Amino acid sequence: MLPGFHDSILSLIIKTSTDLPPDVRAAMRVATGEEPEGSRAAQALTIIAQNIDQAADAEGAICQDTGMPTFELKTPIGANQIWMKQQIKNAVAEATKRGKLRPNSVDSLTGDNSGNNLGPGTPIIHFEQWDQDEIEVKLILKGGGCENMNAQYSVPTELPHLGRADRNLEGVRKCILHAVWQAQGKGCAPGAVGVCIGGDRTSGYVHAKEQLFRTLDDVNSDPRLADLEAEIMRTVNTLGVGTMGFGGRVSLIGCKIGALNRLPASFFVSVAYDCWAFRRLGVVLDAQEGTITRWLYRDPAVPTVPMMDQAGFRRTGREVALTTPLDEAAVRSLKVGDVVMLSGRVYTGRDAVHHHLSSHVPPVDLRGGVIYHCGPVVMKDGDEWRVTAAGPTTSIREEPYQGDIIRKYGVRAVMGKGGMGARTLAALKDAGAVYLNAVGGAAQFYARCIDRVEDVSLMEFGTPEAMWHLQLRDFPAIVTMDAHGNSLHQEVEAESGERLETLAGTTL
Ligand code: SF4
Repeated sequence: MLPGFHDSILSLIIKTSTDLPPDVRAAMRVATGEEPEGSRAAQALTIIAQNIDQAADAEGAICQDTGMPTFELKTPIGANQIWMKQQIKNAVAEATKRGKLRPNSVDSLTGDNSGNNLGPGTPIIHFEQWDQDEIEVKLILKGGGCENMNAQYSVPTELPHLGRADRNLEGVRKCILHAVWQAQGKGCAPGAVGVCIGGDRTSGYVHAKEQLFRTLDDVNSDPRLADLEAEIMRTVNTLGVGTMGFGGRVSLIGCKIGALNRLPASFFVSVAYDCWAFRRLGVVLDAQEGTITRWLYRDPAVPTVPMMDQAGFRRTGREVALTTPLDEAAVRSLKVGDVVMLSGRVYTGRDAVHHHLSSHVPPVDLRGGVIYHCGPVVMKDGDEWRVTAAGPTTSIREEPYQGDIIRKYGVRAVMGKGGMGARTLAALKDAGAVYLNAVGGAAQFYARCIDRVEDVSLMEFGTPEAMWHLQLRDFPAIVTMDAHGNSLHQEVEAESGERLETLAGTTL
């Protein structure tokens, strides 16, 4: 039965996780050319571009968060979907074992990680029958940071900075603008949005995600939606959210809109936000053999054009070298906008670690230390652990805990992406600490800044959630919240909010 099916699915997963499709590469290349040399956005894009190339060259995960694997299949009438589903699960487990997918399936009641990306609801597999004698499989890997930035609006509604969004295309436009604005750096901008007008709450989100299977350069077959997509793309980049929310000229690389019929009483606008690490590919399989007859979104015969040379992080000469344990005076002298090159030991910690530290003593001495919000992909080589992907995760999730942990345990820096809130900002000021924003999704680039894994604590939380002791060398990050009460995130949010008001004044 379809002897090549399993291996074809495994190839699809590996390629999707490690090699960004040509249309996304092209959009990111344009974005890189838009930002002025030496700006924060340009520096971040340099890292992203190198990361994209490194991932493809080394067949490593583009981002350490390999997301929720979502498969969309079209199969001939009579195909055995039960068997295919099992084969897909086997391929997902194998890709996880090979470190191409991070173990991402967590029991929602116990918090236990299944370790192989299998469990109730994961992976997501949708089947549809068609009357062709071949099998089409599409896959999207959408991570948690951008998934958390999805938004669903029930219009009419009042939106901050934009006023009332009505039940018409103008109201839809306002919802989309709001969704892009609220994502800021948390969804690893520049992103792309899939939008559904109508449907119910469930089908709206599903159809919005389906829009992400369209190529970034296609044109909507419905001229009304084509006009709306073009209008969004023409105006949205004046918002100034920029790469990673650092401010800049490019906030969005694509907007794809679909529509479903709705109940008379409901009018939902559902927005699926995807990050720059927009990983989706597809294959067409021979219906008898299960072998790949062609790829979708990419042509293997066309050589990949590298995003850039591998010259490393482009230094301006103004970077500040920091080595842990950090000295209070050195940290207090840092200001928002400073670029630091961090070396020495740091500890990873994300949701489970922060929750744990809120009621337990840390397993290590955190004085002068750095907590890195990161759930790395880690593989065992003999007795040694090796990090194969290690970009930052969204920090705001730790807001309820972070301030207390900084004050109580003498932490001098926390590092993640997207920034944190007022409680953490106050703690940074009191304790003399900073927030460092690393470039989200740059998992391969940052893995190369990790000399070694020295140890691990709290392994019972699973590999992404454990506290890894990492030895860094020249790990670049930007101070976006300092010990003087300044936050770049607050600044960019306020400025882009004002620009939203200007856009609200224009109409379709
Ligand atoms: S690039 Fe950012 S938002 Fe996207 S999956 Fe990675 S960490 Fe999440």
